Amino acid sequence: MTAPVRTRSSADLIRAEEPVLAHNYHPLPVVVARAEGTWVEDVEGRRYLDMLAGYSALNFGHRHPALIEAAHRQLDTLTLTSRAFHNDRLAEFAESLAELTGLDMVLPMNTGAEAVESGIKVARKWAYEVKGVPADRATIVVAAGNFHGRTTTIVSFSTDPEARGGFGPFTPGFRVVPYNDLAALEAAVDETTAAVLIEPIQGEAGVLIPDEGYLRGVREVTRRAGCLFIADEIQSGLGRTGRTLAVEHEDVMPDAVLLGKALGGGIVPVSAVVARREVLSVLRPGEHGSTFGGNPLAAAVGSAVVELLRTGEFQQRAAELGVVLRDGLTALVGRGVLGFRARGLWAGVDIDPAIGTGREISRRLMDRGILVKDTHGSTIRLAPPLTVTAAELRSALGTLGEVLRVGS
Ligand SMILES: *Cc1c(COP(=O)(O)O)cnc(C)c1O
Repeated sequence: MTAPVRTRSSADLIRAEEPVLAHNYHPLPVVVARAEGTWVEDVEGRRYLDMLAGYSALNFGHRHPALIEAAHRQLDTLTLTSRAFHNDRLAEFAESLAELTGLDMVLPMNTGAEAVESGIKVARKWAYEVKGVPADRATIVVAAGNFHGRTTTIVSFSTDPEARGGFGPFTPGFRVVPYNDLAALEAAVDETTAAVLIEPIQGEAGVLIPDEGYLRGVREVTRRAGCLFIADEIQSGLGRTGRTLAVEHEDVMPDAVLLGKALGGGIVPVSAVVARREVLSVLRPGEHGSTFGGNPLAAAVGSAVVELLRTGEFQQRAAELGVVLRDGLTALVGRGVLGFRARGLWAGVDIDPAIGTGREISRRLMDRGILVKDTHGSTIRLAPPLTVTAAELRSALGTLGEVLRVGS
């Protein structure tokens, strides 16, 4: 059998989406049809270096052989049971993830937003049952500029007008304080506080890295106040910053860690709340759940992801190549780059607005075979797969330099 002749061009496929697909995204005009490792290929066979990696959902690159093999093997045996029954992959997944993070128990979910929602529910229940907060009075302290997902409760404590506008009424019970401000955090925490929920590095906000000592301070404030510290590591976790978890840069152990994105190996959505036993023990049968959470395919892929992380090889690559990224960006400061923030293989780069918006720079990079994504205004985010080579990274930075020099 011969392969069917492809009749639809990229332009044709983009046009076809317009009337039938909700316009909640504004993608760059590239239609990806194939991918392997750090590279993707469009419908016309043009190749691009992927410097976004699905917002860190593709930390191990596209179709990592070990992950694809684990998925294939599982597809051939068992894909879904629901949690009405046990499945033979879930114990190993939970054991390995608890061991990787140094925490005790795992609540498997699917998307990142579900992990955040689950973390919020568990924190509230913990506040009522363990801390003794009066019914319906629990508060959760969060940081301005946060991104934790898109559900109605989560956008209730977003400070981004685009994320909130038109979606009220909002869920009460949240207090927003400035990020990277321990005094404000301390002032917001009281006897009603169930948890402080923060990103150890704010990804969507432009890869904002708090001052050294902030995460240790959050740990100290929450310990003193007798509330939980929940770290949303959905984007920062699983190797991206050069450590398994970003909180490790300050040797801090939260009470609960939220994982997603890379946990699914770029194959299926897999997320989890990983926490101390005392925290997740508040859930009893019937009180929370998910039809797909912990399904055997997700558990098999998730276990394979943990297996890749167990050796520390990817964390070390991210740390080492992070130096290449940092050096390359430092050389561009004053040459179109106003400044940047970077940790491991993750950077938010502020482009001189006189040269172009983040969107325009992303478009020019796309035309030269590099895929990135802008965040706010003139900031672009670089987050290549952790499998990227030093040569690929240098080449991408060279292209960024060219784009900034040419100016258009
Ligand atoms: C992406 C992200 C989420 C939401 O994950 P989804 O899978 O898109 O629901 C939550 N928190 C952080 C920090 C994220 O980066």
